[in-house]
Amino acid sequence: MTTATVETPAIFAFDNTYARQLEGFYQAIKPASVAQPRLLRLNHGLAEELGVGAIGELEDGELASLFTGNTLFPGADPIAQAYAGHQFGGFSPSLGDGRAHLLGEVKDRNGRRRDIALKGSGRTQFSRSGDGKAAVGPMLREYLIGEAMHGLGIPTSRALAVAATGEPVYRERLLPGAVLTRVASSHLRIGTFQYFAARGEHAKVRQLADYAIERHDPDLLSHPDRYLEWLRAVARRQAKLVAQWMNVGFIHGVMNTDNMSLSGETIDYGPCAFMEAYDPKTVFSSIDEGGRYAYGNQPLAAQWNFARFAEAVLPLIDEEDPDRAVGPASEIVEQFEQHYQRDWLDGMRSKLGLDQPKEDDVELVNDWLQLLHSESIDFTLGFRALAEAAGGKRERLERLFGEKSNIEPWLARWQAQISSSPLAAEQRAQSMSRVNPVYIARNHLVEAALSAASERDDLEPFERLLQALANPFEERKEFADLVEPAPAEVTACYQTFCGT
Ligand code: AMP
Ligand code: MG
Repeated sequence: MTTATVETPAIFAFDNTYARQLEGFYQAIKPASVAQPRLLRLNHGLAEELGVGAIGELEDGELASLFTGNTLFPGADPIAQAYAGHQFGGFSPSLGDGRAHLLGEVKDRNGRRRDIALKGSGRTQFSRSGDGKAAVGPMLREYLIGEAMHGLGIPTSRALAVAATGEPVYRERLLPGAVLTRVASSHLRIGTFQYFAARGEHAKVRQLADYAIERHDPDLLSHPDRYLEWLRAVARRQAKLVAQWMNVGFIHGVMNTDNMSLSGETIDYGPCAFMEAYDPKTVFSSIDEGGRYAYGNQPLAAQWNFARFAEAVLPLIDEEDPDRAVGPASEIVEQFEQHYQRDWLDGMRSKLGLDQPKEDDVELVNDWLQLLHSESIDFTLGFRALAEAAGGKRERLERLFGEKSNIEPWLARWQAQISSSPLAAEQRAQSMSRVNPVYIARNHLVEAALSAASERDDLEPFERLLQALANPFEERKEFADLVEPAPAEVTACYQTFCGT
């Protein structure tokens, strides 16, 4: 079967700069055709944001054909991007899009350039032994977690659609296949730079850097020290992103350098999950045997990844003598930690309602986390309960900690700290509730939603969870069953899989 471009109305006004300006950085290749395309989910809100809300009016069959890659969107110029990556510390010089096709870029309603890509859309020169495919469960999972992150206000790639292929995918068992349509500020990864740096192709690293700067940091184009400043800008974004993850208990699960975006968005949702009872050692991914990407290790892993990025672009910083660039670049790598610490503390201050910053806030935050840890309290509910307590409602806090807890001395310190601020109790409770979600994508709920969709073709639980997560800070009675964590025994055995 060949892919057809006939008779489909123009939907996206594509402008494919990556394909046009960066020849030699990708393979031009069309998505594979699939047997029986069927649309599972279209993200109407995101379609609106992209200025293509009218897409929903197309007939389902047409949408399914477009969102599996059977019909190519008019104007698309599909490519598989080259990239490398440190995977769990070891360098793989050639990864690349082994099952993804970048269709092109569009400007959204706010004038922001966004990539439109398919995932699970067939083999490419980068597939190695992989089949180029994806299964319904993991693609819906990426959709769901992406929307959850978006609802939490955390930069992320997002899913525009998931369409079933009608073909089986062979994993540990037979699974129904699907293609995800992903929207991201770009798919430039640390690994994209490493690919060319590792081959000694410095002219290409520069070309890619110039492209990245134009795309994500256009203000720096005229800066005399543009590459160094760019390095700093990327450090700030990535540090901030990881701080935001930490503030909501998100565990990415596979923070390899090929999964770290230059845009500072969360990308590549694989074995990711949200922590329940607070424990920095929490790790869910079945492939992360050493706990390299455990919750508490994420800031360090991000800095380590960033150092690999700095190495890859070092020759750009001082063309005549790259050794001279080592000092300033190392300084930026070291500052990564300070950026992270500051962003993390800012986030924690908001979460605890500490509107008048004080020296010993860090201690107060850490002691609170220590308390959550020693009493095995659910991270999300712990903070939410405190928000309610700030407004005088202590029921949830008492229920969570129980009668015999050691929370009183800490609460007294917290009360003393917040009482020095002029903010009224109700106002503080409200502002805390705007940053402490009541709903997160809890593992047992995600699993239930995905298995209903994948095994019984029932998307109802998925839709419902999605609705709750779209607005995670507003508690609604109809979603009461989505608040509580899974029983501890379930969480203790919970494992996530790459699904690749
Ligand atoms: P990930 O673990 O999803 O970040 O992927 C790591 C690398 O494996 C990337 O180069 C992917 O394109 C590739 N890959 C993952 N799954 C498949 C698959 N089913 N077929 C081909 N390549 C794959
Ligand atoms: Mg990846």
